[in-house]
Amino acid sequence: MVSRGEDRKQSVETTELSIDDLMQGDVTVAVEATTVNYKDGLAITGLAPVVRRFPLVPGIDFAGTVIASGHPDWKKGDKVVLNGWGVGETHFGAYAGLARVSGDWLVRLPDGMTPLEAMAIGTAGYTAMLCVMALERHGVVPSRGPVVVTGAAGGVGSVAISLLSRLGYHVIASTGRTSEEDYLKDLGAAEVIARDELTGPARPLGKERWAGGVDAVGSHTLANLLSMTSYGGAVAACGLAGGMDLPSSVAPFILRGVSLLGIDSVMAPRALRVEAWNRLSVDLDRTRLAALSTTIGFDGIVAAARAIVEGKVRGRVVVDMA
Ligand code: NDP
Repeated sequence: MVSRGEDRKQSVETTELSIDDLMQGDVTVAVEATTVNYKDGLAITGLAPVVRRFPLVPGIDFAGTVIASGHPDWKKGDKVVLNGWGVGETHFGAYAGLARVSGDWLVRLPDGMTPLEAMAIGTAGYTAMLCVMALERHGVVPSRGPVVVTGAAGGVGSVAISLLSRLGYHVIASTGRTSEEDYLKDLGAAEVIARDELTGPARPLGKERWAGGVDAVGSHTLANLLSMTSYGGAVAACGLAGGMDLPSSVAPFILRGVSLLGIDSVMAPRALRVEAWNRLSVDLDRTRLAALSTTIGFDGIVAAARAIVEGKVRGRVVVDMA
């Protein structure tokens, strides 16, 4: 699949590429599984300028098998996973079935994890893990009190709930789809609250409701999360599904010592990625992972991309490329 852009208009088409059309890199990977993340949705629909060179093969993450390598860390037959580094934005991504990338960008697929499982996690799930690790580093442990997860029924949210509940946290899930209450509780949410509770303008300080949070939404939602975080707590902010602004005040920071932890998955250093993937292989319940993911084929990518930017996708969408 190729994105093309002309006169500020963007389109995608399915076309044949040869291996020589791939961009430079020292490792070639046969993509066995990829996903449709929110960013892929933006890239395919053109709703935000995610694609920064045309033509481009979208697809920001994949798992598969190395078929050729000039990189000292990788050899033919190695199972690998890739997230970010501009793949699917400036470098040809997963939706070609073959990807040629820098070996420095790859992480070894954890033992016992299949490519389809890795992509059920995908960039959204790996980002959820980075959020959880950031909260832990900040000392937001289960005994400190509840944690809130926004955009709960989405990809980041669903994996974050599963992880946090498995680790012993009392998880409050915030969703605009209260019809998904049973789904969220099956993933491990102890409480489900309506998105509307957090979308109005935030007061400088609100009632202390949680010790921490994972926020995939931004804007008023993140501002409310901060104002309701208890003394010394922290919120890991990774998303902008509700907006890129942050209409907050400094009150939570200077009066309650609250911290805002920024999470970026794209350029995260390799050591952090390896730690996150190893943690995911241990801390994520595979039954819950299966429950939160839906598998589609290559032909379903465009429809899934449209659905995800409309907030209609539940959990994670895996694309079986095998
Ligand atoms: P999803 O679309 O799967 O999830 C987003 C969820 O946010 C939706 O399911 C919905 O949850 C909620 N939501 C959607 N629109 C709104 C709105 N207008 N107001 C409030 N809530 C809304 O996306 P992902 O989970 O894949 O990604 C979530 C966010 O995280 C995106 O903004 C994405 O760009 C970002 N992201 C950032 C990364 C990073 O490196 N920092 C990496 C990966 C993702 P519900 O229906 O439950 O309310």
